[in-house]
Amino acid sequence: MGKIAFTGVQVLDASGGQPFAGEVLVEGNRIRAVARDGAQVNREGARIVDGGGATLMPGLIESHMHCSFLDTDSLEALGFVPVEEHTLRAMQNAKKFLDQGFTAGCSAAAAKPRLDIVIRNAINAGDIPGPRMLACTPELTVSSGLGDVRLAHMHRDTFALICDGADEFRKVSRELVREGVDTLKINPSGDEFVPFARAHHTVMTEDEVAAVCEVARSRGLRTAGHCRSAESVKMCLRQGAEIIYHATLVDEEAKDMLEAEKDRIFVSPTLGVTYTTLYEAGDWGVTTEMATDMGLKRELETAVENMKDLKKRGVRILPGGDYGFAWNPIGNNARDIEYFVNLLDFSPMEAIMAATKGGSEIMMMENELGQIKEGFLADILLVDGNPLTDVSILQDANRLIGIMKDGGFHKDPADHLSASQEAAE
Ligand SMILES: [Zn+2]
Repeated sequence: MGKIAFTGVQVLDASGGQPFAGEVLVEGNRIRAVARDGAQVNREGARIVDGGGATLMPGLIESHMHCSFLDTDSLEALGFVPVEEHTLRAMQNAKKFLDQGFTAGCSAAAAKPRLDIVIRNAINAGDIPGPRMLACTPELTVSSGLGDVRLAHMHRDTFALICDGADEFRKVSRELVREGVDTLKINPSGDEFVPFARAHHTVMTEDEVAAVCEVARSRGLRTAGHCRSAESVKMCLRQGAEIIYHATLVDEEAKDMLEAEKDRIFVSPTLGVTYTTLYEAGDWGVTTEMATDMGLKRELETAVENMKDLKKRGVRILPGGDYGFAWNPIGNNARDIEYFVNLLDFSPMEAIMAATKGGSEIMMMENELGQIKEGFLADILLVDGNPLTDVSILQDANRLIGIMKDGGFHKDPADHLSASQEAAE
């Protein structure tokens, strides 16, 4: 590690200010100094990385990460994968997040009970490459809820854990707390592709939601809810859940409740999976016509209007798009930033800040992550070009010429800079 001085960079610090020409000094795993207005950082003893005008910005943060979803075309398939293979695949995915510039992620469910936990621990131990990660439980759901893909006549495991009644939710939650999760995930609402639990169906009871939230609260952990229906959002808010995924079909009362708790809660609409299921899943047998019939067009339109409204009300809305499906694969996660600009009328700066500074808040690391700031952790991207003029360049790994996590290069810009030098010669 040691000292690294980035020179010749445009610093997009994610504080909200405009980018500036400057220099950044990293020492160990922290940003030691940021210089602007022609000033230099102390280069003594430092390796100098001349960015050649590249943009230096904080690493991206995913608010709805599924490290163990295997770009599958069916949720049933996740249950068929043996745990050993599944662990290896999750490990490969962890690296993929980092390859794409995501240096942190808040998991929104593991596909098996201990997958997130072992991947997070291995990353933290430095054994495998991957983002900083908050580990989640599998989706806790009810019989005939989203994730119950069992068959009546034959045993088969699923990616979810099925609980009925507050006692079962409490027991499973406590067991997963023992194993070391950071977040408990519940499925209080269904989803349009589940015929028996649609998006507007609220399938968990309030005492079931309360049981999980109580376990989380008692251990200083958080609850995240898959909440498409308005009632499921209200239930989660009444019971103190912190992370509201989707919130697509919220009504006025639910929006008022979200606004009232805007400093405590996060909304992650996951536009990515809805958009791609609607427009890009044809190769997997889901045409736009079928997806429209399923209700996804209506849901996307409703979600867009609701998110615009919630943004005006000051609710923290974060990019994160449920990547991990065949038509919405892991690695494409930065597309959500572009959806925020194109669909939700975020400015490029607002969208990038939601994916960096905003992401640090859902990671509960806002005082040391998500900005280029003295004393903050050195999770840094060096981007070829200006993402404020075109946020889509963040989706192109070739444009990420340097990727640093915790002060160490996952992708060393020297490789890019020497390659481009050779090309020029
Ligand atoms: Zn998800």
